[in-house]
Amino acid sequence: MTAVVNYEARNTIAILTLNSPPVNGLGHAVRQGIQKAFEAAIADNNIEAIVITSSGKIFCGGADVSEFGKPEGTAEPILPELFNQLDASPKPVIAAINGLALGGGCELALACDYRMAHVSAKFGLPEVKLGLIPGAGATQRLPRLVGVEVALQMMVSGDPIDARKAEASGLVDAVFEGKGDFLEAALAYAELVVSKGARVFNCADIPIDVRSLPENFFDDFRSSSARKIRGFFAPECVIKAVEGACELPLQDGLVLELGLFIECLDSYQARAQQHLFFAERAATKIPGLDPATPTRTINKVAIIGSGTMGGGIAMNFLNAGIETTILDLNADALTRGLGVIRKNYEISAKRGRITEVQVEERMALLKSTCEYSDLGDMDLVIEAVFEKMEVKKAVFSALDGVCKPGAILASNTSTLDLDEIASSTSRPEDVIGLHFFSPANVMKLLEIVRGDKTADDVLLTATKLAKTINKVAVVSGNGWGFIGNRVLEPYAREAARLVLEGASPAQVDKVLTGFGLAMGFLSMIDLAGIDIGYQVRQAEKEKYYSQDPTYSAICDGLCELVRYGQKTGRGFYIYEGRDKKEDPEIMVLAAELASEHGVTQREISDQEILERTIYMLINEGAQVLEEGISYRSGDIDIVYCNGYGFPAHRGGPMQYADEVGLQTVVDALEKYRDALGEYGEQWFKPAPLLKKLAAEGKSFKDFAK
Ligand code: NAD
Repeated sequence: MTAVVNYEARNTIAILTLNSPPVNGLGHAVRQGIQKAFEAAIADNNIEAIVITSSGKIFCGGADVSEFGKPEGTAEPILPELFNQLDASPKPVIAAINGLALGGGCELALACDYRMAHVSAKFGLPEVKLGLIPGAGATQRLPRLVGVEVALQMMVSGDPIDARKAEASGLVDAVFEGKGDFLEAALAYAELVVSKGARVFNCADIPIDVRSLPENFFDDFRSSSARKIRGFFAPECVIKAVEGACELPLQDGLVLELGLFIECLDSYQARAQQHLFFAERAATKIPGLDPATPTRTINKVAIIGSGTMGGGIAMNFLNAGIETTILDLNADALTRGLGVIRKNYEISAKRGRITEVQVEERMALLKSTCEYSDLGDMDLVIEAVFEKMEVKKAVFSALDGVCKPGAILASNTSTLDLDEIASSTSRPEDVIGLHFFSPANVMKLLEIVRGDKTADDVLLTATKLAKTINKVAVVSGNGWGFIGNRVLEPYAREAARLVLEGASPAQVDKVLTGFGLAMGFLSMIDLAGIDIGYQVRQAEKEKYYSQDPTYSAICDGLCELVRYGQKTGRGFYIYEGRDKKEDPEIMVLAAELASEHGVTQREISDQEILERTIYMLINEGAQVLEEGISYRSGDIDIVYCNGYGFPAHRGGPMQYADEVGLQTVVDALEKYRDALGEYGEQWFKPAPLLKKLAAEGKSFKDFAK
């Protein structure tokens, strides 16, 4: 068996090589291996310096998350102890960082005396993304090495920095960019360190220059990052730990860090964020589908429709360097669509996100046409035309006529039956749903819709493609609204209904944003356009109003007054430029409609608003799970946190339900069923799966189809 840490003495230099694929994670065996090799190097009188490096492309991916909560996770040596031992080394320790140094991997480098990095190396402390803070010294050592501002930026954002930035900040002492062997260069560097007198540093002796910090630095930092970290617990703990680093000796600071780390570890937020981390990785595993199935090659993509969605979807492929053709039957719409893409890129260039050269490179990959006959050699075509079945079918039938065999034909439909769309082709096995969210070039979520006949290799190609274009993918079955819009429906109904019953739009939205949602539902529908749903309901009145005549009464009432939301300057709120104001007329309209429909208005508590909206999301999520539209509860959570502004610190609606307890959700739904009369009887039925799991004392996580 190969050792997870190799030890080799080359002349007077000891080389410790982490060798634990895939990421050289700091599991128990690796921690033990480092300690043993380090102690051997210290004990060997011939050794003058120690180099720590890794085999493979990654220096170290950090703590082994699969050990969290298990005895191995806390088995000695634990990381803080091990790093203290390295920090106190009497011989110089040089980290030779050959690739990514993440989390504990970055902290390992920080505990060394010198850091030499390959130019491709990256340094990151992403613990906040798992609801944690660095717990093995970074909050205390990093500010000593790079200063408070850079340290806070890195740890509060969790975003990595590259080797050159690390060098500029003082995080690394030397960067290797040559063509030769990196380890040889690192050994030469170690010899230089020895020849110059082999100075060793104990981080405790490095002072932090607090006096050069601007006055009120920490408070200002808190307010400038408030929007990004709103509701999250861990970033505030990072700030407290760094404040501590400025005031305390290293060892006391490390004690403070450990306390804050444990507080985070025990928090519902850490459970939620770690749930999302694992859910994202599980989401593209499709039950019964062999991941080794060969996939199709995608080199050329076409988008049908150059409207809001078509343009945004095209940008994803252009960004990934894939040649993309947009087809629109309306030449003016096509010109407009191409113009919007260029404008978006130019704005990005102005903001410094991409270079002018990249703008031109991406635009050069973009082609356009009004002729279906130009699409014969496309590997993938994504349709994004009007949401009308007959239009979609005509497009797919045209594609069937011109596309080469094996081309994947995808629809971006939000609600329509994918199998019916596929039936207009002679190759339903090549048809799939690729449901992007608006703005499609920005939103991370991609719902991949599996039709009845979608071939396995088509599905697998789509999940791989999602990675190429940097999307978080979830597979959904083919049912109205798929996962996201289906689950949204009852939540949306309750948000509007609460206004009919007497809550103000601002009260409803405030409860939802207070819970952590990026936007309250009534502000969101004002943004999306209240008229869109209205048109759908008017087209199928029987379907929407036969069960409940009050269904969407308030939204319908607003549409009849041509109050469509932001686009008409009035909806649930009044919009003047960028300002949003409450509108007292809404309450008058709500009172009139309530009296017309025999709904008694009353004062509504914030708790009722929260339960009726969020628990309804959960209830529909349970239904979607039971029907097999979604494979696992984590998939619904991924959809909500990446596509609907649900707070990641709550882990998604299903994780939130698991946290509060499913019986609590059932009890609340039954309370409203009993309290809300006919309306309650109609809508507040706990889903059978929810009731069953609650009765068995289980959670959604326990459920797998
Ligand atoms: P849009 O009205 O902005 O654009 C549709 C474009 O399709 C227009 O440019 C039109 O000229 C073109 N078109 C119509 N018929 C065509 C045909 N037969 N051949 C070629 N081009 C044709 O619409 P949109 O908002 O981009 O929506 C497109 C699709 O995306 C719809 O199915 C919609 O449900 C779905 N979708 C929309 C959103 C959103 O927020 N807008 C989000 C997710 C999914």
